[in-house]
Amino acid sequence: YQAKRQKLSVLHFESWMGQLVSEKLHIAKRLAVAIAEHQLRLHYQPQVDLRTGQLIGAEALCRWHDEELGCVSPSKFIPIAEERGMMVALGNWVIEEACRQLAEWQQQGMRLPGQLAINIAADQFEDDDLATSLLAFCHQYQVEASMLSLEITESGIMVHPEKAIAMTETLKGHGLGLAIDDFGTGYSSLAYLKRFAADKIKIDISFVRDMLTSDNDRVIVATIIAMATTLGLETIAEGIEHADQAEALLSMGCNQAQGYYFDRPLVADHFAERWLT
Ligand code: C2E
Ligand code: MG
Ligand code: MG
Ligand code: MG
Repeated sequence: YQAKRQKLSVLHFESWMGQLVSEKLHIAKRLAVAIAEHQLRLHYQPQVDLRTGQLIGAEALCRWHDEELGCVSPSKFIPIAEERGMMVALGNWVIEEACRQLAEWQQQGMRLPGQLAINIAADQFEDDDLATSLLAFCHQYQVEASMLSLEITESGIMVHPEKAIAMTETLKGHGLGLAIDDFGTGYSSLAYLKRFAADKIKIDISFVRDMLTSDNDRVIVATIIAMATTLGLETIAEGIEHADQAEALLSMGCNQAQGYYFDRPLVADHFAERWLT
């Protein structure tokens, strides 16, 4: 009986694993087509100055609606794209689309104050062609490189820290902004962080969410802000959903924020209508 049970559960496990693998494979295949056929979209979420409520920039976030799978969240498809080596192709599309959109707004007489932030995966950051293709897209769409900033996670930096540090120097030289995303959730070394030429730290949503109810999270937020300030970096908090979070962050010395409280990520036209006119 025992042996039979064990065998059954192994079988069950295998078919469950198999299902998971084939689901991911299926998503990966459809994603590859979606990238190649430019079916992805970007949404834009405002970033505001907490002291004035004014727009200081935006973050471009990738969206994918698949005919068969429906809307697939980036937290699902980005890791799959990363695993399967598709991030350079996906990321290049994101960069080009961001440049195209900035150019379109400019042609319509609208200008985004500050910078448009683009998320950059570790694979892209290690790609020696990143700077070249970024600058080529800027040139093609007549957009200044300083209109863009890049968001990379701590873990993304730590994959190949020396390479990441060299890449940031190049990009900074061209006026691009650099922010460390999801700060506090990854594993990173302060020694590297100091050498990584970021100008901004994004406090992760998980700390912001619980900072008013958890002493630990409030202390983490305060510590991140203090550290950033000491290192001469700006801080932006992500995931602000309530006024009292905004107030608390401001009183702790964090001057920038992004979150549903201000607005959700919006399609380009909607974003322009609400924030650029
Ligand atoms: P992220 O870069 O940390 O982006 C912030 C995420 O928080 C976004 O989720 C955004 O929609 C969400 N968010 C913003 N304000 C709030 C809020 O007040 N409450 C809550 N609950 N959530 C809020 P999204 O768009 O689902 O993206 C998830 C992650 O997928 C991103 O996290 C980023 O790591 C990745 N991602 C999205 N687009 C791209 C891309 O073009 N390239 C790369 N490499 N990664 C991307
Ligand atoms: Mg981000
Ligand atoms: Mg983040
Ligand atoms: Mg995140």
